[in-house]
Amino acid sequence: MTKPGARAPGLVNIALLLPFSTRMTADEHPDPAQQHSGWREWLGLAPRSAPATRDNPARPDHDLGRELTQREIWLPAKRRMLAQVADFLIDHDLDVLPFTLAIAYDCVTGASPKLAQRVLERTEKGLPITLKWLEEACAAQARDATAEAVAMLVGELEHSLSDLGRTMAGVRVATGTYSVALEGHVADLQGAAASTDVIARLTALTRHMLDHTRTVERELTSSEAHIATLQTRLDEARLQANQDHLTGLPNRRAFDEMYDREVREARLGGEALCVAFCDIDNFKRINDAHGHPAGDRVIRFVAEALGRIGDAKCHVARHGGEEFAVLLRGTSVSDAWARLDAAREAIAQKRLVNRTNDTPFGRITFSGGIADALAYRTKSAALKAADDALYAAKQSGRNRIVIAGQQGEPMRDVA
Ligand code: GH3
Ligand code: MG
Ligand code: MG
Repeated sequence: MTKPGARAPGLVNIALLLPFSTRMTADEHPDPAQQHSGWREWLGLAPRSAPATRDNPARPDHDLGRELTQREIWLPAKRRMLAQVADFLIDHDLDVLPFTLAIAYDCVTGASPKLAQRVLERTEKGLPITLKWLEEACAAQARDATAEAVAMLVGELEHSLSDLGRTMAGVRVATGTYSVALEGHVADLQGAAASTDVIARLTALTRHMLDHTRTVERELTSSEAHIATLQTRLDEARLQANQDHLTGLPNRRAFDEMYDREVREARLGGEALCVAFCDIDNFKRINDAHGHPAGDRVIRFVAEALGRIGDAKCHVARHGGEEFAVLLRGTSVSDAWARLDAAREAIAQKRLVNRTNDTPFGRITFSGGIADALAYRTKSAALKAADDALYAAKQSGRNRIVIAGQQGEPMRDVA
């Protein structure tokens, strides 16, 4: 609805173009100075009432008392947003590129809250936001989003299929019962068929219906078999959506689900639950010196070694890049620490050689951070605690596992 006095944005105010006397009476506009200013303005001579600022762009006097245009309303917000985009690029020392502009826009407008959160966490750690890091973070986000969409689709399909399967089975059972009943009546009718012509025709019709019903029944049985095959394929697809393709370990999505499930189980059973992050040390150097494919083999090696500590109550997942997440249920923090530390030690003692050129990889080590998952009120707080402990392990020399909240305790840090 248009309010009185409002006009469409961008339209010329026709009233301003009319001679003054025809536009208004003295009562409507009693101040001669104002009248005068109207004419001056029309001639383009009106002085500005106040200097323009970023949030308060200059408005001519005749604008007072009329509805603001959409442009005037949004302009300050637009200016603020552009200033924030500029601040983002300047603060992170990023070049002005279409890619970085899009990222900055997404971060400051909240279009990409996950990315904004990752940027914030990295900045808080004092780590730089580089173009390369942004590219990796965006790629990881796109992969996550695709996996998420596939998993949702698989879930919906599974649901529909099991519904359909139930309906089909119900229909088949009903059809079978109906056929048996019909057959009984047909036999009775056949006995009496000789007596009347009507009964003979009815019998023939029923026989036809019966044959048709049998065909439908057979088709339903074969459709049910088809549904069972589809269900198996969907189970496989779900498994793939939850699996990291490089290492075969559960991926980050699966870890998130696992975390929620394990918290429920632990609470129900009154068990402890620990969460840990492990990150290969100086992995960039391995990639740089031996190439990405060799780096992939190192990731697989660490994944296998860490995976060996897994069992029904200990889950190891690839959280992304060269980082792994571990959930240990029914284990105290110090036992969980000892278990992870043994894996760390075992990996650090191996001497790996790049099989493509016989060059040694050098010592492969990882650092870890571990937290008591139930000691924090939220999942994100527990994960952050484990991540902070990992950061502390990196800061204090790498190749060690640090327990959250005990960053300062030297006994825990085993170099
Ligand atoms: P830090 O000890 O501090 O963890 O040092 P880092 O070199 O490991 O540091 P950072 O975590 O920043 O580097 C990880 C590198 O891992 C960056 C990225 O190029 C690489 N990377 C991520 N995913 C993969 C992958 O799937 N395969 C390979 N080969 N490299 C990957
Ligand atoms: Mg690393
Ligand atoms: Mg890392």
